[in-house]
Parts: sequence; C-alpha cells; structure tokens
Amino acid sequence: MAEHPASPVILATTGVEEFQANLLRGIHPVLDAHGLPRVVYIDQLGTPGLPADFVDFLRGSRPTGLLSTHLWREEHLDELRTLTRELSLPSVIISSDYPDVACVKGDNVTGMRELMDHLLDECGVRRPVLVRGIAFQQDSMEREGVFREEMARRGIPVDEDLVVDGEFWSDIAHRALRTLLQHRRDFDAVVACNDLSARGCIGALTDSGLRVPEDVLVTGFDNDRDTLQWPGLTTVDPDLTEQGRVAAELLVSQIAGDPARPTVVVPSRLVVRDSTSISARSDREQLGTALHMVETARAHLAHRDASANLARTTLASRTLDDVIEALASSLNWLKLRRCFVAVRSDLCGDLRDVPTDLFTEPAPETAAEREGGQVGRQVAGSADGEQSTRQPRSSTPVRLLLDYRDGVTHPPPAEPFPSHQLLPDPLQGQLSEGLLLVFALVLGHREFGYLLMERHPSPLTFNETLHADLARALDAVFKQRVLEAHAASLEDTVARRTRELQAEIMVRQRAERQLQLANDELRQVAMRDGLTGIANRAAFDQHLGHHWQALTRTHHPLTMLMVDVDRFKDYNDHHGHIAGDDTLRIVAECLHDSTYRPEDLAARYGGEEFAAVLPGSDANAGLTVAMRFQAALAERAIPHGASDVAPVVTASVGIAVAHPDGHTEPTALVAAADQALYRAKQCGRNRAILLELDGPAVAPPETTQGPPRPTPGGRPSPHP
Ligand code: GH3
Ligand code: MG
Ligand code: MG
Repeated sequence: MAEHPASPVILATTGVEEFQANLLRGIHPVLDAHGLPRVVYIDQLGTPGLPADFVDFLRGSRPTGLLSTHLWREEHLDELRTLTRELSLPSVIISSDYPDVACVKGDNVTGMRELMDHLLDECGVRRPVLVRGIAFQQDSMEREGVFREEMARRGIPVDEDLVVDGEFWSDIAHRALRTLLQHRRDFDAVVACNDLSARGCIGALTDSGLRVPEDVLVTGFDNDRDTLQWPGLTTVDPDLTEQGRVAAELLVSQIAGDPARPTVVVPSRLVVRDSTSISARSDREQLGTALHMVETARAHLAHRDASANLARTTLASRTLDDVIEALASSLNWLKLRRCFVAVRSDLCGDLRDVPTDLFTEPAPETAAEREGGQVGRQVAGSADGEQSTRQPRSSTPVRLLLDYRDGVTHPPPAEPFPSHQLLPDPLQGQLSEGLLLVFALVLGHREFGYLLMERHPSPLTFNETLHADLARALDAVFKQRVLEAHAASLEDTVARRTRELQAEIMVRQRAERQLQLANDELRQVAMRDGLTGIANRAAFDQHLGHHWQALTRTHHPLTMLMVDVDRFKDYNDHHGHIAGDDTLRIVAECLHDSTYRPEDLAARYGGEEFAAVLPGSDANAGLTVAMRFQAALAERAIPHGASDVAPVVTASVGIAVAHPDGHTEPTALVAAADQALYRAKQCGRNRAILLELDGPAVAPPETTQGPPRPTPGGRPSPHP
C-alpha cells in the first residue's frame, strides 16, 4: 500500500555548501519540533527558467511551505515568488530582502561596522582597497555603504582608484586586484565584500610577492568555513544558523495561519583570524586553523576521487543502463545514504523514440510568453481543484531508473509516474525521512529528469558535482542515440537516392541510345538519295573528301567515275517521266552493284548523272568498274525508243585517277572525270574514257564503246 505522508517543506537553494549547511543547522530543529518533513531543491545555473519538473512538483505536490535562499538567477526567484503567491503557499525568503514577502536576512551593518573599527582603529589601516560584490546587489551596496561611512567618520578619504568589482567571485576578484597591483601597491588592506572574493584577492597578493597579513591585511564577509585558506580569514559571520532558525519559525507561524511578518534582521558579528592579526596568534589558534584545513582538504580529495571515478566510468557509458550502473558503483565512495534517479519516460525507450527536438535550441521566449508560459505551468487536475486561468501544463511522466538505499540497489518499478510526486507511490515514504536533496538533471535547455539524494551527515560539506556529471553522461548517451538515429536515417536516404539515381541513369542511357539511333537514321536518310536509294551528292562529297585526305599520307591512287545516261531527255520525252524514274533506279542499282570493295561508293550526283568513288584503286580498277557497270546496264536492256545511240538505255562514263598529295583538291578530280565524260559524249556516247589527273601527259583520249575492256596504263580501250 502506498504511503502518503505529510507534504514536505521545500528549501530552494543553489547548492549544498557551507552556506546551506549552516542554514539547515538552524532549520532542522524547528521543523523537527513540528513534525514537518523537508526536501531541498537545488537550483541550476544554466536553465533559463525553473526546471519544469520542479514547477510540476510545486504545483502537483502542494508542499506545506517554502523556504528559499537567493537562486542562481533573479528570474528564478521571481518565478518562485509568483508561484507561491498563486498557490497561496506559506513562504519565507532567507538572506534577501523583498518588500512583499516574509524575509530573514543577516545584518550587513553591525558586523561590518565592527570589521571597520577593527581595521581602522586596532590595525591602523589608512589606505584600504574595497572589493565590491555585484554592483546593484543589496548586500554589496550595504557593505560598501558602511565602509564609506566608517572611513568618513574618521576623516579618511576613500581613494576611488582603490575601489574595484569582485562580483562575489574569487577569479573575478583575483583578476581585478591583479590589474590594480600593476600600478598601485600603496594600500595596506583589502576589504572584500565576501569570503570567496577575499580568497581571490589573497591569491593575487601572494602572486605579486606581498604577504598577508605582514604587508596587506585582508578581510571577507560570510564566515565560510569550508575553505583551505591560510592564513585564516578575518570575516563577518552573518549567523546563518540563526537566520535558518528564525526563517523556520516564521514559516511555521505562517503555516499555523499567522499573517506574514515583514523582514527580520539577524545581527552579524566580527570574527578575527590571522589575515588581520597584528600580533602573532597563539600556536593553539594556528593549530586549530591548520587542523580545520586538513580535514577540509581530506573531504575535498575524497569527493574529487569519487567524482573522477564517476566521470571515468560514465565516459565509457553507451546506454542509460551503463550510466546508472556507473553511478550506482560510485555511491559507496560518495558516502550517499540514499540516491534515486528519475528520467523522463520518453527518453527511456529505444533509439528511435528519443524526441528529435531534444537537441534543438528553443526559440528565445519573449517577456510576455515567459510570464504567461512559466506561470501557466500547472499540473492537470491539481489536488484542490483551484485551477489557474492560464493554460495548464501536464506533469512530465518519469521513470525511476535507480533506487539505492543504504548500500543496496533495489530494482525500480517499471511504471512511469508523474514527476510532481518526485518518487513513485511505493517510495513516497522516503520523502519524509531525513533530508533528500533534489537536483534537476539539466544541461542548457535540455531537461532529462532529476536526482534525489541524501548526503552523509559528514561534518564537512563540499561542492556537489554529481548531478552535473550525471547530466553530462545522460546528455552524451542521448546525443549518441540521436546521432545513431540520424545516421540510420541518412543511410536510408542515401540508399534510396542511390537507387533513384541508378534508375534515372538507366532511363537517361536508354533515351540517349534511342536518340543516337534516331540521329544515325536521320544521318543515313540525309545521306541517301530519295529516288534511287543509293548515296546522294552530299554523301559523295563527304566520302571523296574523307578518302582524299586519308590518301595524301599513303600516295595510293583514288579513282572516280562520272556516269551520265545518254539521251535521257529524249527518253523522258518518249517514255514519260515515271518510266524515266524507274530507269534511273535501275542505272543506280547497276552502278552500285558494280562496286565491290567496302570503301567504294556509288552515288547519284544529280539528275541523270551518277558517280562512283574508288579509294585506293587505280585506273585499271576504274575501267573494270566502268565495264562491269555498262555490261550490267546492257543486260537490263531497257528499251529506249528515242536514242540515236542504241535501242536500249546506255550511259557514258568519264574515269579520272589522281594521287592525292596535299597540293590538289578533290574538285580537280571531279573536273577531270567530268572532262572525260564530256569526251565520251563527244566520241559518240555509250563508252568510257579515262583521264589520269597527275599521271604522265594524257594521250589523245581513246574511247571505249559499250561494255569497256580494261586497258592498263590509263589507256581507254575500245569496245570490241
Ligand atoms: P546526253 O546524251 O547529252 O546526256 O543527253 P541528255 O538528254 O541525257 O542530256 P540533257 O542534260 O539534255 O537531259 C538530261 C535529262 O535528264 C533532263 C531531265 O528531264 C532528265 N532528268 C534529270 N533528272 C531526272 C529525274 O529525276 N527523273 C527523270 N525521269 N528524268 C530526269
Ligand atoms: Mg546530263
Ligand atoms: Mg544524259
């Protein structure tokens, strides 16, 4: 059966260091006396607003009351104040001062005045450096105010060149003082507005060869004990334990129904240590400081070891289980009594389920959205039915991945539960035992869940980095998953695109082949004579030109025939043009069939004239082809009713031979063949006459009649 104990009081703060430990020392006894359980929520520096899980928790669990210190961001505390007002939650803010809420704060004045008295009157300081905190921050301004008042009261002018900003931070103070030390060394003390910046200043002084307190006295504020500071730091103790006690009392009275009281100021007091000691301190006092340092150092080292161990093991983690296992194995080292890890349930599934928006930066919120959105985050169906008028936000479902108690890791329940419960039903009782700290597991805008843990009540505190290590390890695992999913989808895309491209390439290749075929066909059509089907004039010119060129290198001969049908005008007139066309086809066929060699070409030259190109062939070959042609034509015996040459269709042939040499053009050969043809006509037609273009001087042409006989030596041979 689920336990549902009293709702806890929440302490919202920035860490679990000396400051919080001192507050809790005052808070615990008061809440214990009233039987109130408590949970500490640790704010995170990086997040723009309060983490959603914490807001869910506040709205959903309706805690009994809220104690809050300053948070990492002013907006976080503003958001928290708005929420407590809206939920009518009893609340007290510690170490800050707001007009509309109950506050408890340390006294900046009393202790600071004592500190100035000590420095100026007892130590004789005359030229102090002031290391301010954050310029607009109230504590910083009040402490600076007392500094200036006390200086003025003694008539000591404040040297404004010696006022620097340390921003309550050791490195910033260190840097500020180092810069100052480059041109000023004539000061006798450094008054820092908190201990952390005082430590930075001591570092800067030591680096510059100045000794504390022999050369320069240094003071801080806060009385941090968790330090490795030597010499011990003179400071102001704001009595945090008393502040915690008073804050808890105020909260209890609000819970009981009393109206909220205005700000209560707890007096602070000066604590003098070695950093301003003008007379040597006793061995006993020095030994006390040294022992404290040793103990602090030991705690720091133990924690560093545990943290390094965790970092090492989580570094090798590839899955959520790996991370949780690595954490579990470090818990004994870390001396934690209880530790629970809850992770958003949508991040606990497999690789494909990681929300893709996890690693996309959200658009920056406008002020209006921020106000509306943050305040509007509300758990659906919250306990008492008091609904906000703004848009509610449902509580994030989370899964418990680690349940570690007193050295034993228990199998966590598999079912998700709403994050506002912090723990699943069977473990609710854990919330009212001891003191659980809640850390949101966030990195930038990414919220993964939260870590609950109970510190070992060691006398010393140290910086908690466990949640940061864990958040980073989770981040790495989720990033890895998102990357793997992304890589898988990329692979799919690449494979698909490859297939598409291959298909596209095949389609294109097919189209190119078809285009090629069409072009070839077109080229052939363009090179063919429409009437006779043999090569046309263009093909003849191309063929002749090509072989002419090729033969210039070999000095082989090139022979051509020019053929003209005899008395063809008369044929047409006598037999008609249709018959004339048929005859031209037969003449073409005869000429074509008379050329045998592959490089020979028979073409229609124009009208009733034909030509044949015989590359690499000499006069004999020309005569042979002419003879073959005339014989073939004679064999067809096409009647010619109007010829004075023969009763059948005849043709005259002019043969010309050339040896292309680069100086003559193919047109010369054509002209020679034409000339030979002209002579054949003159000599009575139906014969072949040969002319050698570049041969020995052309003898008076002899003619061959009818199917010619080959005559070597370029001599035309008479037809028998
Ligand atoms: P010759 O013996 O001197 O060559 O006399 P010819 O009549 O053949 O010469 P001419 O140049 O006077 O006549 C050529 C004729 O060829 C004229 C034309 O009607 C005819 N011709 C040209 N092309 C074609 C054609 O495509 N079809 C037909 N049927 N006749 C054509
Ligand atoms: Mg003609
Ligand atoms: Mg003719």
